[in-house]
This record gives sequence, structure tokens and C-alpha cells, in this order.
Amino acid sequence: MDIEAFRIHAHRFSDWMADYLATIEQYPVRSQVQPGEISAQIPGACPVQGEPMEAIFADFQEKILPGITHWQHPRFFAYFTANSSPPSVLAEMLTATLGAQCMLWETSPAATELEERMTVWLRDLLDLPAEFIGSIQDSASASTLSAIIAACEKATSGRASREGLAGGPPLVVYASQEAHSSIEKGARIAGIGSANVRKIPVRDDYGMDPAALAGAIAEDRAAGRIPACIVACFGATGLGSVDPLPEIGRIARAEDIHLHVDAAWAGSALILPEVRATLAGLEYVDSFVFNPHKWLFTNFDCSTFYMRDPSRLAAALSLTPTYLESHADDMTPEYRDWSIALGRRFRALKLWFVMRSYGAEKMRDMVRNHIHWTRHLAGLIRGAKNFEIATEPRFALLTFRFTPDWATSDDQLDAVNEELLRRVNDDGTLYLTKTRANGRIVIRFMIGQTYTTLPHVEQGWARIQELARQIPTPSHDAES
Ligand SMILES: *Cc1c(COP(=O)(O)O)cnc(C)c1O
Repeated sequence: MDIEAFRIHAHRFSDWMADYLATIEQYPVRSQVQPGEISAQIPGACPVQGEPMEAIFADFQEKILPGITHWQHPRFFAYFTANSSPPSVLAEMLTATLGAQCMLWETSPAATELEERMTVWLRDLLDLPAEFIGSIQDSASASTLSAIIAACEKATSGRASREGLAGGPPLVVYASQEAHSSIEKGARIAGIGSANVRKIPVRDDYGMDPAALAGAIAEDRAAGRIPACIVACFGATGLGSVDPLPEIGRIARAEDIHLHVDAAWAGSALILPEVRATLAGLEYVDSFVFNPHKWLFTNFDCSTFYMRDPSRLAAALSLTPTYLESHADDMTPEYRDWSIALGRRFRALKLWFVMRSYGAEKMRDMVRNHIHWTRHLAGLIRGAKNFEIATEPRFALLTFRFTPDWATSDDQLDAVNEELLRRVNDDGTLYLTKTRANGRIVIRFMIGQTYTTLPHVEQGWARIQELARQIPTPSHDAES
């Protein structure tokens, strides 16, 4: 494709992009295709001769779009959002056009220097400790893995990166039963192993029980194992629970164990002073991750990872073969030493566009609305016959259950809620996911999409009730 043809298609595509966002509500939120339906339409091999962009784009619209789940749909209430926004998309277009690989300062000084600035902007917006030094990673999973690697380095005084963990006493990672799977995955990748991940019981509010944590640490020490890392959740994935950071922090400090905070989703809400006021204990924290790509209007991927002392991670990951030496090695952070991959995307640009375009006040308004609407929805659910709140709103997430009169046993309630969820997602008006609370199936409703308004929430709730009413009451025969 020559550059003039590129120009024409770029204009066409940008029109399509605006049309798509303007009419996104016409799509079912969750893709309605069956497994294999898309691949059956894609030829088995690369074409020998190039094809015109018109044909490729027509196939994108006809064959690919039906297989897209519309994450930017304003009635996307599933998982956590991966929200985007117009300024973020515009920045991504520029990033793709530059196509810069920003592994070293020298391979694009603007990327390193803007990343330094943007992580400071965000640190201060969230009112995180001024000592925190940030970097932008692809995911919370990679950030948490980095934290675990730094923790291993500390716990073994550098032996982990020099000799590996084999042959030494096992290292142990602690997180609550509600913690995200990325923590155990990180422990596996770091060579710690699932058997050395302690899933600490939670209290009634689903936050980690500090006494149980202290007990587990004592038991591991007595058995000759080395407690290496504690991961505390601020907004766990299932129910949005928060671990008691001051109590956990005092244990981490007394035991000299690396304390990492996983705030992947809820960290964005810390831009609100009223949410920030609820978070104490950051003085104990060694590292902290949150994802602007979840709730801060910035395209996936963009995860900000803060460390109090990056030197441990750098000691574990830094390797400079001759082909990576550059004239600025001593001047600036070389972010490659803080992340798993060498190659780095220019992720700071979209953050810069988003934060400048909205400004702090507008971002606060948007996040605050999501939290208010979640409380409003909780009121509607509470007032509805045959529905109950399972877990109260945490930030912008609540869980509920359908409780028809005929469903009297736990198993019947689980089954009818699975059935309701299936009907909701097949219907396409909105998209929801499930989790377990107290061992029972509950439906999650999370509000955080950039384009969501209160009427979208109310439309979604109305549709849930209609679909619930259509579920037939099982006949007595069918039950027995
Ligand atoms: C989403 C989430 C993660 C994983 O985030 P990725 O960026 O997809 O790796 C980790 N922890 C929590 C609490 C999350 O909500």
C-alpha cells in the first residue's frame, strides 16, 4: 500500500470509528457467535497475491465484527471494564503510526521521559507516597510478577537471581482467598510454586484475616521456609473486597517481608479524595499496581506499577549485553530493567492524552458517578420482589441473586441464577458475569464503562427483571 492509499483509508477508517462509537448500542454486548464460527470463515493460508483494502475491510465488518464482544458498549457490566475513550484512541493511532520500540531511553527519549512524568501525575492524583517510583507495564499480572521477583531477591539477598531457588529453602507468598489468580501464577513463574502460596482466610467482609496471616507466617518460619511476599488486595476481583492494610502492613514490617498491593481495578477510584480517605497503611507498602486500562479511560494495555525501591528489581532483571549499551545508560531509568520483556510500547502517550483531555475534575466526576449509580442500583435491587443483594456495593461493583419463591434450596438458587445469567448474555442488551460469595453463585454488576449513563444502568436492570420473569417455574415432576 502506498502512502496516498494509506491516507484515503485512514480517513475512511476514522469515519467508521466515529460511526461505530456513535451507534455501538445497536450491537449485542457479548458476541453471539458459536465456537469455530469465525475461524470457519477465514482461509487456511496466507493469500499469494495481495488483496485490495476494500475487500479486507469488508471482511472485517462482515466476518470479524460479529465475533467481537463490545467492551466499549455502555451496557457492559461484566468482569471489570477495559475502558477506552476518544482521546486514548487518538493517541493509540499516533502510537501505532510511530511504531516506536521504546526499550531504552535512546530508542525514544520521549517515551521514557513522558513515562516518568505520567507515573508522577498518577501517583499524585492518587495521593500515593511521594517516594513511589513508577513504570508502565502491560498488565497487573506482569506488575505483580515483578513485585514477586523483587521480593524473592530481597528474601534471598540476591541468591534468587544468581543461583535460582532450587536447593534453598522454599519461599512463600501470602494472599487472601479472594486474591486474583495472577498472584499464584506469578508465584509459579517465579519458581515459588503453587504449594508455597498461602491463601489466607477472609473475615466476614471478605478482607484478609491478619491473625491468620500472622499464624501462617509463624508456621512457615518454624518449618524453615522463607516468607517472601505478602500481597494485599484493594478491590479484589470477585466481590471488590479490601484487605486491612494497616494490620497487614504492621505484620510485613515486623517480619521484614515485601508488601505488594494489588489495586488493579479499584486503584483508579483513589483519584477521589473520599475513597483515598478510606485507604490507610500505604507507609508499609513496598510496591503497588493499578490499571488505568480498567477504569481510567485508557486503552488496554496500561498498568502502572510503583516501587519504593526499584533497585532490587533492577538487580534481579538487569542485563546489558553490548548490543544494548547506549550513551545514556547512567542518566535515566532504563525501564527494561523493571519489566519482564525487553521491548516496550509507548504507553505513556495515551495517558497523557487522556489526562490532558479530561483533566482531573472530569475524571473524578466520571468515576464518582459510577460509584453513585452502583448505590442507586443497589436500592432498586433491594426494592424488587424476588431479588436480593448478595454483597453490598464495593466501589462500583455489587453482586445480587434472583430468589424466585420456588427456589428454596441452595442448589436451586445456584441453578436459577446460572440460568438467568445465560439468558441475559444471550439476549445481548447487557453483559454480566458471576462469582461466588459464601460458596454460592451470585451475579456481578460492575459499572465503569466510559460511555455508561444512569439510564443505561436502569435499562439493564429492567431487562434483567423481564428475563427473570420469563424463566419457567419447574414443574413438580421435573424436580423429582
Ligand atoms: C484485573 C485484575 C488483575 C489482572 O489484571 P491484568 O492487567 O489483566 O493482568 C489482577 N488483580 C486484580 C484485582 C484485577 O482486578
